[in-house]
Amino acid sequence: MAGFRSLARQVRDPRNDLALRRYSLRKCLERFAPYGHRATWDHLCRRHRIGPEDRAPDPARLVAALEELEAARAVWLAYEVEFAARRKREKHAGLRRPGSFDDWHRRTWGGFGVAWCDDPRTHPVEPLAVVLGRMIAALRAQPGTLCPVCRESRLVWSQDLSHEPWFGPVCSGCGILVPQPVLTPEALSRAKAARRGELASVA
Ligand SMILES: [Zn+2]
Repeated sequence: MAGFRSLARQVRDPRNDLALRRYSLRKCLERFAPYGHRATWDHLCRRHRIGPEDRAPDPARLVAALEELEAARAVWLAYEVEFAARRKREKHAGLRRPGSFDDWHRRTWGGFGVAWCDDPRTHPVEPLAVVLGRMIAALRAQPGTLCPVCRESRLVWSQDLSHEPWFGPVCSGCGILVPQPVLTPEALSRAKAARRGELASVA
């Protein structure tokens, strides 16, 4: 299976036909896609004016989309290296953290689904590296009550997501599944209550 970097070379290589270059960019999203494959593709297409079904897009736009993805990947992988070193030190010092914190990192290791967007059309609009920078700041800080990306306070607990963990607090502003470790227990209870309120209003 080709790795991210060899796929990125295929995207850049002007000797490849455009269909292969586009295909290679989509394959990159199987390795690294902060919102998940479909939502990250939708994001890149919108920001770089690529027709989602265009089999022969402008190569300059493909490369610009790849550069955005690479910049975000560099930010995320640097964080993971730092996180692994910090956890090692903490464990050595006997410091415990809630299991959910390590579970979340294990599940998203490598950067897939860090800010999962279950609806592929609803995701943050800022460059991916900016969004990941905000996520990282939240993961380093004490748990809070707002969406770490758009600062929205209305988070609604959702079931039946199409990706692990299958359920959790979804931001009604930007559409991301907010990682539970960045939220206080009160914020999580509020998200669950918001869902109950919605169910009640539908009934
Ligand atoms: Zn948000």
